[in-house]
Amino acid sequence: MITMLKNVRLVDGISTSARPTTLWIVGDVVSRKGDQAGGRVDAEYDLAGHVVMAGGIDLHTHIGGGKVNLARMLWAKPHEELEKGRRGEGDKPWVGPLSAPVPGTWETGRRYLQMGYTTCIEPAMLPANARQSHAEMQDTPGLDTGGYVVLGNDRMLLRMIAQGAPQEQINDYVGWMVASSSALAIKVVNAGGIDAFKFNQRKLDVDEYHPQWPLTPRDILRTLSRSAEELGLAHPLHVHCSNLGVPGNIESTLATIDAVEGRRIHITHAQYHCYGTQGPYGFSSAAERLAERVNRSSQITLDVGQVLFGQTITLSADTMHQFANRKLAKPSQGIFQDLECQAGCGALPFRYRESQYVHGLQWSIGLELFLRVLDASRIFLTTDHPNGGPFTGYPHLIRLLMDYDFRMSIFDRLHPEVKRVSALGSLKREYRLDEVAAMTRLGPARALGLRGRGHLMEGAVADLVVYREGENREQMFAEPRMVFRRGKLVVRDGEVLGEIPKRVLVSDFARREESLRWGFEARNRKAWIEQYGYTPGVTAVGWDELREGGAEVERAGWDD
Ligand SMILES: [Zn+2]
Repeated sequence: MITMLKNVRLVDGISTSARPTTLWIVGDVVSRKGDQAGGRVDAEYDLAGHVVMAGGIDLHTHIGGGKVNLARMLWAKPHEELEKGRRGEGDKPWVGPLSAPVPGTWETGRRYLQMGYTTCIEPAMLPANARQSHAEMQDTPGLDTGGYVVLGNDRMLLRMIAQGAPQEQINDYVGWMVASSSALAIKVVNAGGIDAFKFNQRKLDVDEYHPQWPLTPRDILRTLSRSAEELGLAHPLHVHCSNLGVPGNIESTLATIDAVEGRRIHITHAQYHCYGTQGPYGFSSAAERLAERVNRSSQITLDVGQVLFGQTITLSADTMHQFANRKLAKPSQGIFQDLECQAGCGALPFRYRESQYVHGLQWSIGLELFLRVLDASRIFLTTDHPNGGPFTGYPHLIRLLMDYDFRMSIFDRLHPEVKRVSALGSLKREYRLDEVAAMTRLGPARALGLRGRGHLMEGAVADLVVYREGENREQMFAEPRMVFRRGKLVVRDGEVLGEIPKRVLVSDFARREESLRWGFEARNRKAWIEQYGYTPGVTAVGWDELREGGAEVERAGWDD
């Protein structure tokens, strides 16, 4: 099948065509010279006034797993109900706001796809819960998915580090965990802090000792980042720092970066981790310090976790800090769990308000980070869905970044003290389209080692989005004209067309087979059973199992 996109501007973060050109889709890949392919052109679209980008990649969005499911049980509506009420014959396709802060799988897949996102990664897959996470993602239509396995508060690992186990033995364990959960990378959440919480500890700083064992978060971060590097995982250690949301936490965030000793690191929802203690309420922005550090260290990537005003629900494995925030829940509900001594879980409804000093400043800190980090291919657009706000807020967020006057029109409505202490007004930068492509496609693809995605070079996966170029960037990004998945037109003017094949992205690191066959499980069965009370293979999710769910498995790594 050959499809021809004529008179369209190409924007991919590597280069932008100033003049309209022709892009070809041959089979399921992009071609710049499809006219030489020799086949019959099956479909032809004249796209004057449009731009084409690669499909969006969200590398941090909570779409599958235990706490996502808890949030769904609290609030989500069944999709049958949504479909019934959505439209009459001949009406515009339904592209409205989400029915709940964490919608069901059907709604999640459709809404991402309608916005032109094609690859979404669940960042907090607990080992004991990997099967459930994958199952929910498999049930999310239209998107390629993957997950990061959460380590760093699992008793087995903490014990090994505390007892001084050699790095090789720890790599053996980490490799088995990544392979057996069919994960794409390793995530660490408040290293050691979730476990310390169970010993009644309410904070654990980077160099503070764990209450039971002679180890610190710095030890955990160093050890896990070494494992990620030595195992050859394409994505570096994905870090939710210590002291989430705590004024002054910029110090522990910078200490976290130091803890990996020059290795690559991804700091997630960085907005929640760059706070100072200045100002009238002892809460201020330290975005400049973090951005300055990122600007001079090419091994650091960030996603922002932007706050958007409105009702949401916060979900985190960081039980320690979710518990600390329990009295701020709106409405006053909350769920806290420990999961198999591997990590925690906290779900709290939350409402971000323009008139509230802290919320307004959080909003401006996120934007400050976007504007101060100079390389758009190392800072990624996220709201940490649903924590800072729903993913459907991305088009609005893109407009905030591309349009200074629009940004200021909202800034002017905030608490008067926010306007006094924030430097946002002085940051006149406006993102260009190619920077938006770098931040939402090229950068995340590079950070995940997905070489065929995120750009429009010869042979790239033909996950493509066609946007009508317009002054109002929010509208432009909210309602793409067309979305292609692997060369097939799947969304046209908001209407989702037919069934879309799915892929699960798993890490194919060099020692994967070895990790599964002769690795940790075989050697440490007894110790595992003593620790957790069940055999290690019980929670393993094999590739066969993923295929049974209907998805193709795609190996992601350096060499693909
Ligand atoms: Zn998150």
